[in-house]
Amino acid sequence: PKPDADIEFIQDRFRKIKHKILILSGKGGVGKSTLTSNLARALAADPTKQVAILDVDICGPSQPRMMGVENEEVHSSADGWTPVGIQPNLTLMSIAFLLGNKDDAVIWRGARKNGMIKQFLKDVDWGDVDYLLIDTPPGTSDEHISLVQFLLQAGPLDGALIISTPQEVSLLDVRKEVSFCMKTKVPILGVVENMARFVCPNCAHTTMLFPNSTGGAEKMCADSNLELLAQLPLDPALAKALDNGEDFFETHPDSTLATSFK
Ligand code: ADP
Repeated sequence: PKPDADIEFIQDRFRKIKHKILILSGKGGVGKSTLTSNLARALAADPTKQVAILDVDICGPSQPRMMGVENEEVHSSADGWTPVGIQPNLTLMSIAFLLGNKDDAVIWRGARKNGMIKQFLKDVDWGDVDYLLIDTPPGTSDEHISLVQFLLQAGPLDGALIISTPQEVSLLDVRKEVSFCMKTKVPILGVVENMARFVCPNCAHTTMLFPNSTGGAEKMCADSNLELLAQLPLDPALAKALDNGEDFFETHPDSTLATSFK
């Protein structure tokens, strides 16, 4: 069969990217975008590494806000769209930059979303990148399947990080992500548990927020043969920093959350 010209374009773009990591979650609001942005900042703390974020969370792209570049515009050149620079070794391309009206994509049908994702993979001029973190929509929709298929045709993925809170509803959805990864043959790097604990900034008392804050994610990981990579606390200072597009690691280098990423 005739090779798909689009796939060849995507292959050319992705040839220059060393590591590709998908960030997945079963539910929205559990901290997938937060993890993506923190991980990107943590990796980019090494000035010798070139880090990039690809935000394809088509119905709720939040990276521009979290990275403090909400009002930037992407520029297009003969080589494609140039990602927005956050710092010299950290760039971002978000579907939000291309949506005229931020609410439009919510009502798009599958084919249009898939077309947008393909075009996105084809047209962004990343240059040489060490780590590309891909922030996906929550769940395991058609968009995920086409995204992963396009990516896999362009070469292997390092794998997926799955993020969950300790709530039963969120942990149950992790299993759907696991079966999605098995079906699409994406290796699972491990699970990150978010918002299990809250340490009061006034009295330093630790509150376990959910009924299975203690041990829920550990048990689920043990049952499913997954590695629990980190347990991140709920930190109001992080939510504030991200709403303001600030680098949390710069402003709170000694917080438990920041040290969890070292
Ligand atoms: P998702 O990408 O899974 O939909 P987000 O990363 O957008 O979720 O997180 C939802 C909200 O929760 C955001 O406003 C974010 O700032 C906040 N949040 C996520 N994780 C934490 C955390 N560990 N501490 C404090 N706030 C958090």
